Amino acid sequence: MATQKLLLLPGDGIGPETMREVKALIALMNEAGLASFEIEEDFVGGAAYDAHGAAISEDAMAKAEAADAVLFGAVGGPKWDAVPYEQRPEAGLLRLRKDLAVFANLRPAIVYPALADASSLKRDLVEGLDILILRELTGGVYFGEPKEIRDLGNSQKRAVDTQVYDTFEIERIARVAFDLAKTRRNKVTSMEKRNVMKSGVLWHDVVDDVHKREYADVELEHMLADAGGMQLVRAPKQFDVIVTDNLFGDMLSDVAAMLTGSLGMLPSASLGAPDPASGKRRALYEPVHGSAPDIAGTGAANPIAMIASFGMCLRYSFGMGELADTLDAAIAAALDQGLRTPDIWSEGTRKVGTEEMGAAIREAFRAEAA
Ligand code: NAD
Repeated sequence: MATQKLLLLPGDGIGPETMREVKALIALMNEAGLASFEIEEDFVGGAAYDAHGAAISEDAMAKAEAADAVLFGAVGGPKWDAVPYEQRPEAGLLRLRKDLAVFANLRPAIVYPALADASSLKRDLVEGLDILILRELTGGVYFGEPKEIRDLGNSQKRAVDTQVYDTFEIERIARVAFDLAKTRRNKVTSMEKRNVMKSGVLWHDVVDDVHKREYADVELEHMLADAGGMQLVRAPKQFDVIVTDNLFGDMLSDVAAMLTGSLGMLPSASLGAPDPASGKRRALYEPVHGSAPDIAGTGAANPIAMIASFGMCLRYSFGMGELADTLDAAIAAALDQGLRTPDIWSEGTRKVGTEEMGAAIREAFRAEAA
């Protein structure tokens, strides 16, 4: 069995508390002979600033470059509100994303049957929902130049952001979308605004070309991004993989997230280009939530987003799809037992803390997999 190198960056606040549950799961998998993980751990965010005066050290960056995958907890908190801008906790995360060149951000929206009532939509619209939003992460209007506020000299100012995409950026994210769809229900919906934006016209045409040339066996549909937003809340189960640019992806993935109920349930993955020699993609896995300073240290954090991020790592970095399925089933089983952390608690269920939820998921996982 090949040994896989994982770098764990727990970070701040509830990051270390939720990462502890993943560490216990990794230990279980190693002991049961299900995998052979070699783990390293380092600081990021405020914890790294306290230790080294920077949001991530060069040494930790070198470990991230050398690892097969990076698991990231969360960063930030009031303790570091006054640190210099370049050293703020989030700078550690941005540096990781930039240096690892992870351009494809995957955010699944999955509704576990036991939590269908926590959604803002009716149960029958979301029960069994399993869609994936793929957001282009390193281009578009968040990075395009010029990006400035100009003084026009007549007591007026002009703010400029530039939406810009090159063919290669659209091609590589489209390929990720089609490849992912092939492992799921074989359907991609591409969203842009070609009716009013030139970048939308190019996006549409390039996705179409890649489809015709390389992925004609996958179903492709195009949708204007505003109509897509509407369809996401009207009938979300019609989608499988949605691929879209940085700005629309930012918004649409938050809309999709809310279909599932709680921030504490949402994992994510960010992937880079495949290495020409090994075919492996650089990869960073992290929960969508932040460091939750309001509950940090109380043992109340929901570990599911962090554990499910590790599940995505099994699936997308290590080709362990079956174990990832088993882990998802273990999460569903813990919820079916009526266990709930406070963020997802409802009348008639049993309130538990981070450790008890983590232990129940491991127990269900062990029963299925070991
Ligand atoms: P947050 O995600 O930390 O918390 C928002 C709310 O959701 C809080 O009430 C929190 O208690 C709750 N929550 C979040 N995760 C939870 C979990 N796993 N279980 C139970 N409840 C959970 O966002 P925020 O409050 O806006 O930001 C707090 C800090 O986190 C800030 O310093 C912010 O900059 C940082 N942040 C970091 C990241 C990241 O590391 N990727 C992302 C967002 C925010």
